[in-house]
Amino acid sequence: MRAMELRRNFSGARRESYADSLLEYTAVNMLSGGSLDKTEANVREALTIYRQCGAGGQKILNALYVLQLVQSQRHDWTPVELTLNEALAEARRSPGVNFPVVASMYHPLVTARIAQSQYAEAEKIARDALAIHLKLQGSDDIETGWGYYHLGEALRPQHKLTEALAVENIALAIMRKWFPPGHSTIALMESALASTQAATEVELQQAADEELCFKNLQKIHAAIMAYRKEHKKMPDWLSDLVPAYLSDTNCLICPVEARTGKKPDLSGIADNKVLSSYLYEFSAHPNVFPDPYGIAAPGDTMQAWKEKQLARYGPIVPVVRCRLHAQALSITFGGERMKTGGGRWEDDAEKSLREGAKAAPIPP
Ligand SMILES: [Zn+2]
Repeated sequence: MRAMELRRNFSGARRESYADSLLEYTAVNMLSGGSLDKTEANVREALTIYRQCGAGGQKILNALYVLQLVQSQRHDWTPVELTLNEALAEARRSPGVNFPVVASMYHPLVTARIAQSQYAEAEKIARDALAIHLKLQGSDDIETGWGYYHLGEALRPQHKLTEALAVENIALAIMRKWFPPGHSTIALMESALASTQAATEVELQQAADEELCFKNLQKIHAAIMAYRKEHKKMPDWLSDLVPAYLSDTNCLICPVEARTGKKPDLSGIADNKVLSSYLYEFSAHPNVFPDPYGIAAPGDTMQAWKEKQLARYGPIVPVVRCRLHAQALSITFGGERMKTGGGRWEDDAEKSLREGAKAAPIPP
């Protein structure tokens, strides 16, 4: 009996060490460009042997780690998550034992969530993984470096650029301790950092454009209000303001158009007499826009329709709008800044009326 058990153990140990070699060989082979199908077949064979021999813990986790690498190279996100869950279940079978490799297996899941545009979820997973790396492997480990890198990848699409820059700089500093200049890992860290820097510049430019554009809108608004005070009505065209109410027409051009030459879509109601980037909502042109709340009468001009909106909604009605920004930028009758993305401002205005809000009065 003892002899047989000994033999079984011995042959089990031999099979287990065969599986170790198989896994090591196939992992190295895959990293140097070997076939993913072949790698997966080898990993699965190693996993079967480990399970038959009762080898648990680290060996199974190593195999699952390589399997997940194959799946993430295929961009197969569902198996990536299933393999991580399998690894977590395996790790739970050894309570009190830490397996840093499991934290590394969160990284492909971060990539998966980013590919699925679930950025907040990607960020949460990346933070969890990084916390484990810092605890188990310390602040200089390569895997900690990857943890910082993945967190940066999750932050950038959410425009959390300051923190993205910070963590990408840490990732690069860590990788520089391990890899020579020009190594592909260093190049990857540098390109992540460059993407975030470029996004930061774009954002700063957009914010500066918006500020300057709103200053233009304020000047035009002041001219419109001065005209209205004297004429007891809104001007029919922005050109009616020139030159008595608006002598410098530079403010009719949005800084985005001035800088890039990009022309806005003015929906066919551009002013005939002056060049302008802006859509004047109270023009004498017949209405060309949808009127979802049925406020306009058939044949109303823009101005007639907008006057009815003023009576209904109060001074929150936009007067001049710029469509050259990520979100349309407007100045309201009351002189406030309004930004509209996908939705219509009327929807919000109607909602607050339904909720019992009273429209503020319009000054005569
Ligand atoms: Zn503008």
